Amino acid sequence: MELDIIIPTYNEEGNIKNFYNETQKILKDIKHNYIFIDDGSTDKTFEELEEIYKTNDNNIKVISFSRNFGKEAAMYAGLQYSKAKIACIIDVDNKQNLNYLLKMYNFLKENSEYDSICMCQKQKKKKFFQHLFYKLIKKMSNLEIIEGASDFRMFRRNVVLAINKISEKNRFTKGIFSYIGFNTYYDYYDVENSKSIKSKKIPFNYLFDALINSKPLRAATWTGLFISIISFLYLIAIIIKIIIKGVATIGYSPIICIILFLGGIHLIFIGILGEYLGKTYNEAKNRPIFISKRKLGFDEDIL
Ligand code: UDP
Ligand code: MG
Repeated sequence: MELDIIIPTYNEEGNIKNFYNETQKILKDIKHNYIFIDDGSTDKTFEELEEIYKTNDNNIKVISFSRNFGKEAAMYAGLQYSKAKIACIIDVDNKQNLNYLLKMYNFLKENSEYDSICMCQKQKKKKFFQHLFYKLIKKMSNLEIIEGASDFRMFRRNVVLAINKISEKNRFTKGIFSYIGFNTYYDYYDVENSKSIKSKKIPFNYLFDALINSKPLRAATWTGLFISIISFLYLIAIIIKIIIKGVATIGYSPIICIILFLGGIHLIFIGILGEYLGKTYNEAKNRPIFISKRKLGFDEDIL
């Protein structure tokens, strides 16, 4: 198979048929498969997928999850089942112009030095907090995530194999793409129907995933060391003062300040340790990233 289109879908009834018909038209000259992931939808998404599967079952595969596991898990499932030379991840809500599929495919065909092409959303005006977010990730985790980079990507089989080797449960796919390396070309696109672009918001829920690495722990060590040295010097200064001037009465407010300050620092770093512990616990449980309930198109070999 030449091209696998991986489409995570969650409560997308009404969008499926249109997406499928349009894509069929655009990709008519390329041998391609669809891997739809129904991420525990509660509406008629699965029924609609089943309908298009029945009309054309030779290039449609459907994996239906037992519940909603999230888009990250859905993309992971799609990549696990992909076997084509080139794979592509795309949303079903038609915000990403389907004509780009052909453009991306041709780009990879013509430029063998690139392993992957990523579409980035055009930023009309610079958003301060978004900019800060990406800067922070880069500083703290050494991973460069291009601003506006989306999951709308197409890549070669070697990239799929590399991603599939990363089986961590706390998935942050944009970070994973950056981690595995490879030669990526970044292209820019205008989001259609920009009224409801949810993806422009900053993915704060991923902040900790991206930041939890060895740096915060090192910061704790340095802060602890710094405070210990300062308080030790202060202690020596007090002792010298007592020796020279005799015992002086010190008010209790500086003592309270110091106790509260150290208490706060302790709590912050216990919190950071807790984050690590929670994530380690989750990984140690080694639960599957997704659980599938039904599959369509996997019985016969349609590759
Ligand atoms: N999606 C999914 N599981 C979820 C949420 C979303 O599979 O829990 C799918 C959704 O159906 C769509 C794609 O992921 O095809 C992108 O979702 P959405 O448009 O909500 O996200 P955004 O465009 O804001 O990234
Ligand atoms: Mg979307």
